Amino acid sequence: MEEIDIAVIGGGPAGLTAALYAARARAKTVVFESAMPGGQIVTTDWVENYPGFPEGISGAEIGDLMLRQAERFGAEFRTFAEVESIEPEGLDFVVTADGQAHLAKIVILATGAVPKKLGVPGEAEYTGRGVSWCATCDGALFRDKVVAVIGGGDAAVEEAMFLTKFARKVHLIHRRDELRATKCIQEQCFANEKIEVRWSRVVTAVRGEEGRVVGIDLAATNGEPDEHLPLDGIFEFVGVDAKSSLVAELCDLDEAGFVKVDVNGLTSYPGIYAAGDVTSGDLKQVVTAAAQGASAAFEALRYLDQRLCSI
Ligand code: NAP
Repeated sequence: MEEIDIAVIGGGPAGLTAALYAARARAKTVVFESAMPGGQIVTTDWVENYPGFPEGISGAEIGDLMLRQAERFGAEFRTFAEVESIEPEGLDFVVTADGQAHLAKIVILATGAVPKKLGVPGEAEYTGRGVSWCATCDGALFRDKVVAVIGGGDAAVEEAMFLTKFARKVHLIHRRDELRATKCIQEQCFANEKIEVRWSRVVTAVRGEEGRVVGIDLAATNGEPDEHLPLDGIFEFVGVDAKSSLVAELCDLDEAGFVKVDVNGLTSYPGIYAAGDVTSGDLKQVVTAAAQGASAAFEALRYLDQRLCSI
């Protein structure tokens, strides 16, 4: 069985920063990533609030730069390797990925989060046929078309603006009469002539014909009449769910399923640290993910040293 000092599960900004710190401290560090490294941020067109890039930087480029930096210090990557289980073995952990077991002294969980679904009729049927969770991936398919973005947070508003590069019109549909997104993002949104905000509306069904989305049904939350909105595509940004199932039996989770950690990234289970969007905490940004990854690795290395000294 391969022996590892620090197994990092997840290759987004939190995992890549944890790997950078751990590998730079000469710990044998292996990152398990079920897809390509980079995480959710690579599906973001443009990031304006990661310090050091005054003009902004593309999400894909941040992911690539972080990967190259971790690799430069010797972090190893098992890409397209799905971790199936993490089982305690004495003070260590057996991390099984694609049927292969690895013995790790420390686990840093940086599995991130996945976009929530609305769960309305027609959503599953028309997924990939007009229903999407990734504007960067699918936006270009909607050149000169009409689309709707659902949600009122940073993701919805930013992605609505990105979609105006392609779409003729973007309806931003929010269930309340006030957006949750950061004020400066809201200002850019309101100034964009292609975006029409439809306040106080929830989607009740996705409608399609001949295998493609043709519209959505909207119910008003302010007493106005319900309506049908004809369109070509719908992009959902209604928050995220934590990918915490690997440690659900081992670590304490909050009521929404995010992993509880202390200020240093330690979970309730000794030897398991967590960082980034999988953890509880309001601010889910690249900068916080990177900072949490660094803290988790720093604490993990300290714990590892203590273990080795006590042998
Ligand atoms: P979010 O901040 O949780 O916002 C989710 C939005 O979806 C809210 O406006 C919410 O409405 C709405 N919503 C939730 N469930 C809904 C439903 N069933 N039907 C209709 N609307 C629903 O999620 P997010 O925008 O995906 O962002 C996640 C995290 O990433 C946040 O911490 C965010 O700040 C961060 N992020 C940051 C940036 C950036 O800094 N540039 C970019 C993207 C994401 P209510 O407002 O009524 O609750």
